[in-house]
Amino acid sequence: MEAAKSIEHAFATPVELEPGILRLTLPLPTGPKHVHCYLLRGADGWTLVDTGLGLMETPWPEILEQVDGPVVRIFVTHMHPDHVGGAEAAAEATGAPVIQGRLDYAQCEQVWGSDRWPEQIAAWFTRQGATPAIADELIESGHVFADFVRFAWNPTLVEPGDEVDGWRVLWVPGHADGHLALERDGVLVAGDSLLAPITPAIGLYPESRPDPLGDYFDTLEAIAALSPRVSYGGHGATIEAPADRARAIAAHHDERLDRTAAFLTHEPRTGFDVSYDLFGRELPPIQRRFAIAETLSHLERLVAVGRAERREDDRTVAYTAPFSGGRPPV
Ligand SMILES: [Zn+2]
Repeated sequence: MEAAKSIEHAFATPVELEPGILRLTLPLPTGPKHVHCYLLRGADGWTLVDTGLGLMETPWPEILEQVDGPVVRIFVTHMHPDHVGGAEAAAEATGAPVIQGRLDYAQCEQVWGSDRWPEQIAAWFTRQGATPAIADELIESGHVFADFVRFAWNPTLVEPGDEVDGWRVLWVPGHADGHLALERDGVLVAGDSLLAPITPAIGLYPESRPDPLGDYFDTLEAIAALSPRVSYGGHGATIEAPADRARAIAAHHDERLDRTAAFLTHEPRTGFDVSYDLFGRELPPIQRRFAIAETLSHLERLVAVGRAERREDDRTVAYTAPFSGGRPPV
C-alpha cells in the first residue's frame, strides 16, 4: 500500500535517481498500474526512454518544465502499448525524433498498424485451444487497446550494437522479440527485460520468434555476464543486483518448465488446456490470454529441448510428452 501510494504521488514528476538519470512514472489503467520512463542527460539535451500509453493525456508541457534542458531524442525499448503508445504525443510535445529497433518497429507496424490484427490473433489463439468466448473478447479488447497506441511512424531505426548518445544498444529478446536496452558505465536501462518484484511476461504470439523463452534465457545469461551495477526497469523497483535478479528469474522459469512438463501425457493437450493447470481456471479473458501465451512459450521451450512434442493439424496445435527419448511420462 505504502509503495503504491508513493508511486501515484510521483506520477508525471521526474525523480532524480542519480546524476543525469531521471525516472518519470506514468499511470496505466491496468496491470501494474504504472510504467517507468527515463530521462538520460547528454551533452545536447535529454534522451527520453519510453513514452507511456497514447490517449492518456500525459501532461508533457508540465513534465518538460520540470526538466532543465530540452528532450532531444526519444528511445523506445519495445512495441508494447505502455512503452510505445505515447510515442507520437511525446514526439509532438518535444519536437524530438523517435528511435526504435528495426525488428521491433517492423512488429509494431504489423500489430498496431493493422486493423485486422485482433482477428488474426484471435484465430491463432483459437488454434491453441481458446474457447469462442475468449476469442471474441480478444477481438474486442484488441480493438479497444489499439486506440491507446499512437506510435511514431517512420522512426530512426537502430540495431543492437549501435550507440545512442554514448549508450550501447543491447538486444534483450524474450518479453518482446525486438526488445532493446541501453547500457553505459554499469547502468542498464532495461525496459521490461529485467523487472522486480514481478517477472516479465514471456509469451508466444503469432508471427513472433519461435522460442521466446529460449531467447529470454540467453538474455538473462547475457545480463548476468554483463553484471551491471544497477538496472532501471519499466515497472516496479530499481534493481541493485541485476546479475542476481537475472539468475533468480531464470530459476523461476526452470521451475515452471518442470511444472509444465509434468502436465503433459501422451494424450495431446492444447496450450489452453495446460494453462488451466499452470494458472488455474479462474482468470478473466484478458489474463487468460497472457496465461495461454506464457504456457505456450514454456511448451515450445520444452519442444526445443526434446521434453515435449508438438502435434498440429489444420484446426489445432497440441502438445504431448515425448514419444521417443526424453523422460518417460508419468
Ligand atoms: Zn512490455
